[in-house]
Amino acid sequence: MENLRKKIPSGQDVAIPPFMRDWLAAPKLHFIDGHFVASESTFETIHPGDGSVLATIGRGGKKEVDAAVAAAKASFERGEWRCRSLEERCAALEKLSTLILEHLPALALLESLDTGKPLRESFEGDIPRAARNFKFFAEFARQEGSSCYPQGNVFHYSQREALGVVALITPWNLPLYLESWKLAPALAMGNSVVLKPSEWTPLTAAYLVEFLLPRVGIPNGVVNLVHGFGDGEAGEFLVSHPDVSAISFTGETRTGRAIMRSAAVGPTRLSFEMGGKGASVVFADADLEKAAELCARAAFRNQGQICLASPRVFVESSCFEAFTEKLAARARAIKLGNPLNYQTEMGALIGSAHFEKVKSYLSLLNTPARVWAGGKTRSPGYFVEPTVVSGLPLDHAVSCEEIFGPLVSVYPFQSEGEAIEAVNATPYGLSASIWTRDGDRAHRVSNALRCGLVWVNTWFLRDLRVPFGGQKRSGLGREGGAFSLDFYSEWKSVSIQFSGEEG
Ligand code: NDP
Repeated sequence: MENLRKKIPSGQDVAIPPFMRDWLAAPKLHFIDGHFVASESTFETIHPGDGSVLATIGRGGKKEVDAAVAAAKASFERGEWRCRSLEERCAALEKLSTLILEHLPALALLESLDTGKPLRESFEGDIPRAARNFKFFAEFARQEGSSCYPQGNVFHYSQREALGVVALITPWNLPLYLESWKLAPALAMGNSVVLKPSEWTPLTAAYLVEFLLPRVGIPNGVVNLVHGFGDGEAGEFLVSHPDVSAISFTGETRTGRAIMRSAAVGPTRLSFEMGGKGASVVFADADLEKAAELCARAAFRNQGQICLASPRVFVESSCFEAFTEKLAARARAIKLGNPLNYQTEMGALIGSAHFEKVKSYLSLLNTPARVWAGGKTRSPGYFVEPTVVSGLPLDHAVSCEEIFGPLVSVYPFQSEGEAIEAVNATPYGLSASIWTRDGDRAHRVSNALRCGLVWVNTWFLRDLRVPFGGQKRSGLGREGGAFSLDFYSEWKSVSIQFSGEEG
């Protein structure tokens, strides 16, 4: 990593190298049955740091989706991938993981260009984690066994089988990371896939299929990529395709609802990771320095565009002022600027529509709100200052709605029960953090919170074996470790009668 890091100058803005400029100048095509396929219509992807056009992308429709699903189905039926041994499939995924790390500087730069996130975050976070997803699922799937129930001369055993064609629909906030989170277990289990990345962030997926995938020996038709839009276009055609056996979707809750309606055609197996309105609860006995540091990270990492972010912080009244000042001080110290500078800590929001949405919430921060830090936007590009606010009622739009930007609202509470009620007072239920040195309280409060993930005295600490997903409107099902293998496969039970007496 350190050697690769040397390729990125630390104090200066990174320029796009000539080979990448050339690559970006060519339109990015769909990848169907091992071939690059153009569409009649195209769209442009931009760099949120300055609004400049990065590349032209094929805009897939019914024709491309039908071709991609047909290719996936044919490859599945031919069995060239699903009938390979688990060991061979896992070896290919491990190779992909290694290649991603070898291409880390290029992939990190592309991810930051496409999303506006700081290069440091792509280089040290997103891309290595994408590589890790492939490696993890390769290692994890290899450990899989199954049970056998012998009864005399009869043996009952079970084995996993691939599902068929799996649709993978991903958002823009953590592009390659979330694509790999789905691709790795889906491929390990022997499925053929059609990936539809967000139209905002198609570049790292395009790079993956063009430069890395051909080097790992996965047969044509097993991995297909269709670029394009969701509603009424490629995404919708894909999720309503009758030959799709399962859909893994990460995105907004209302998109999840629409997909569920489209998927009724199957009915199709679904796994949904959706919106959130996470919270932190800070008790007066907590390590307030550490809590402020991690609450700042939970609010501002990736410009607040993380489903697991914590845009609400509930603080015990006795330490409310002291804690909020610490949090605000950290917000003020964050280096906001050019995503392509390695020292930058916060970059730009994804694009103009999202920038306008976040700005509309900033415009609501009038009395009785107290703005402790930030509150302003910066242009050119789509920059929002890390913002800390207090004094908002719990039923205020900023308190209730998923903003998905660098805006954290702090609320005082008197009792544990009041804090629990406030955290739970949202239709979402993805994640929460509890800050206290009292173990009994941590256990009690975590039991009372209605969300899929709870961290105590930390945030965003992941073990990929752990079930990941949300309660209430934040999700449907769980992925991670065995939960992913369960989603991307189905069990078949076989009973064999050997000759002789029945058991
Ligand atoms: P969207 O729901 O807008 O989009 C997600 C994906 O779905 C995109 O590829 C989109 O295409 C596609 N899509 C949109 N409409 C349809 C449709 N009718 N049929 C099929 N596909 C469709 O989410 P965002 O990209 O805006 O991502 C942000 C959201 O993702 C936030 O709500 C965040 O909380 C959530 N998220 C949840 C996570 C979790 O683990 N729970 C993790 C990360 C993010 P296109 O955009 O190209 O039109």
